[in-house]
Amino acid sequence: MLLISWSVYGPLATLIDRRRFRERPRGILLTFDDGPDPRYTPPLLDLLDEFDVRAIFFVLGYKVRRHPEIARDIIAGGHQVALHGARHLNGWWATPKQVRQNIRLGRRQLQKVGIDPGLYRPPYGRTNLAEDKTHQKMYWTKLFHDWDIRSPKRLLKQLKAGSRPGEIFLLHDGTEGRAKPDMPLVMIGVLRQWLTWARENNLILSDGRRWPDETT
Ligand SMILES: [Zn+2]
Repeated sequence: MLLISWSVYGPLATLIDRRRFRERPRGILLTFDDGPDPRYTPPLLDLLDEFDVRAIFFVLGYKVRRHPEIARDIIAGGHQVALHGARHLNGWWATPKQVRQNIRLGRRQLQKVGIDPGLYRPPYGRTNLAEDKTHQKMYWTKLFHDWDIRSPKRLLKQLKAGSRPGEIFLLHDGTEGRAKPDMPLVMIGVLRQWLTWARENNLILSDGRRWPDETT
């Protein structure tokens, strides 16, 4: 009985919520979770700037508190900063109150550095029945296991294979949960190759600042 209740509260609520998420970008939209991180976010920002790409960064409040200047750099780079929670809380194992507090505290932490996030992505993409619906949620369509990259070559192949208009890529500029250290640096190296390839093939990348205004 308890297991059934939990399944409805967490996994099933998440499944339904993700299915409801239908908005898609016109091109390919890049999103980055779990930053800001002084080791990974600045080189990523440099790379995106070099290729003139604007992304969405789903940041953690506790990291914004530690590195407010990096959060501001993301904005200054023309990207959108969105909320990923105060900390990386798993919605399936949290009480309704914990989830609400994690969102509210996260939002306050961002507002303290002058950012008012309009979008929210639950950590692990896991929500529950009790989550408050005051914020607009955004999931993703393509996940690349970039928290544990065994082969950069394979990651590049997967990025290329997933490159179609309307896809939302999820990558990471921070390490949370089971993520291995340094992985974001490997990801950034691969992303450089992918961006070069995307440019050569005239792929259209969507502007993260314009979401959700510019969706199909
Ligand atoms: Zn995350």
